[in-house]
Amino acid sequence: MLISRVGIIGAGPAGAAAALQLNQLGIDCVVVDKAVFPRDKICGDGLSGKVITCLNRIDPEIAIRLQEAPFKLNSWGVSFVSPNRQELDIGYRPDYNGKDAAHKKSPIGYVCKRLDFDNFLVEEMKRCAHIRLLEGVSVEQYTLESDGYLISGTGGFQLKCEILIVANGAHSSFTKDIAKIRMEPKYYAAGIRAYYKNVTGTNADNFIELHFIKKMLPGYFWIFPLPNGEANVGVGMLSDAVRRKKVNLKNELQDIIDKDPIIKERFKNATLIGSVEGYGLPLGGKQRAISGERYLLTGDAAFLIDPFTGEGIGNALYTGRIAANQAAKALEQKDFSAAALSAYDAEVYRVMGPELRISHRLQKLVKYAWLFNLLVKISIRNKQVKELLSCMFYEVDLRKKLAKPSFYIKLLLNR
Ligand SMILES: Cc1cc2nc3c(=O)[nH]c(=O)nc-3n(C[C@H](O)[C@H](O)[C@H](O)COP(=O)(O)OP(=O)(O)OC[C@H]3O[C@@H](n4cnc5c(N)ncnc54)[C@H](O)[C@@H]3O)c2cc1C
Repeated sequence: MLISRVGIIGAGPAGAAAALQLNQLGIDCVVVDKAVFPRDKICGDGLSGKVITCLNRIDPEIAIRLQEAPFKLNSWGVSFVSPNRQELDIGYRPDYNGKDAAHKKSPIGYVCKRLDFDNFLVEEMKRCAHIRLLEGVSVEQYTLESDGYLISGTGGFQLKCEILIVANGAHSSFTKDIAKIRMEPKYYAAGIRAYYKNVTGTNADNFIELHFIKKMLPGYFWIFPLPNGEANVGVGMLSDAVRRKKVNLKNELQDIIDKDPIIKERFKNATLIGSVEGYGLPLGGKQRAISGERYLLTGDAAFLIDPFTGEGIGNALYTGRIAANQAAKALEQKDFSAAALSAYDAEVYRVMGPELRISHRLQKLVKYAWLFNLLVKISIRNKQVKELLSCMFYEVDLRKKLAKPSFYIKLLLNR
């Protein structure tokens, strides 16, 4: 049996961030993943500015190595395409000007296959003296004992740890069986992803594209450009709507590619690489108990994906780092009680709660196609509104404004 002060289940972004932060603090941990890396993860592959910010906080050297990595594409913004097919391009930086080379030096977004990004994090873990990584071991049982958690899994694996960081993703059995967090269709989305080669018409500055096609609302169809002429293409939709409308997402994706008058032209010479795959997105926007005696839930296992944008990698990294700091405190104070660890919940929701709640409200508004059309129409013509929307990627207060009906009334009056 292995013994470690901290055990981490899952070596995706949440588990890796927790381990890398613990390493910085000089605390030994064992990380267990059922996969052998490099492994795929069904995802849009869009990395927001949060990713580099968080890695920089853990260790600036890691952030530099990611910035220099050849396997990703730099992206400078997002194109929102409204249901009536108007396109609104918003740079990640409010002062973005596509013609100005100075802005191109510092992108804040990337598109990068998870096969490569997650393997990058695994390689970072392998450099660390305080991290022991076990691949190809699936954790199947968790037993709370008086002096720690005993976890066991395939191949006779057993680990005893004082505190457990749960980072095993959207289908975590720990989240369901022990933390008792259940899937709720209003706070869960389903996503389908495919890789294509030779999709035409992508933006010269590699903007990611979100197409709010009427029948998919409040979900969207996406095209995210990747290196080597490839693109990540997919659809995502709230599970509540999938059930209500009896939608088959794989069929919807194919239908858009084959029949949508604008999209089908762009896919005329495109070829599918590999298979079309789907996975769940546990959404934030509602506060849940994400810790308990001797455990902390992180990333998707804690239901923290942004309900409006579908972004979860940045939040997974953030919670991994916060969990590591909380684990360090618990080890120092020798207090692993649920009451002591609830400080973790407070910190996660202090950092992410406002943004997630606002995004939940925005997601509800987006189901109105006319409102979306109007907002895009006004914004295309109005430089100030464009700058305002750009700030949305940084400022929670601004997202708050966007989620209020008064914002749209003012916009209408000032147009
Ligand atoms: C279709 C789709 C598109 C998305 N697009 C984006 C996007 O463009 N940008 C973005 O930021 N987010 C996106 N997301 C969300 C993002 O993929 C997740 O939020 C992110 O992967 C969460 O990281 P994590 O570390 O919590 O979990 P994961 O990345 O799922 O990692 C969990 C790890 O735990 C391991 N594991 C699972 N069970 C066990 C077990 N029993 N024992 C041992 N190991 C185990 C797995 O092998 C895995 O390596 C998308 C999600 C989907 C489904």
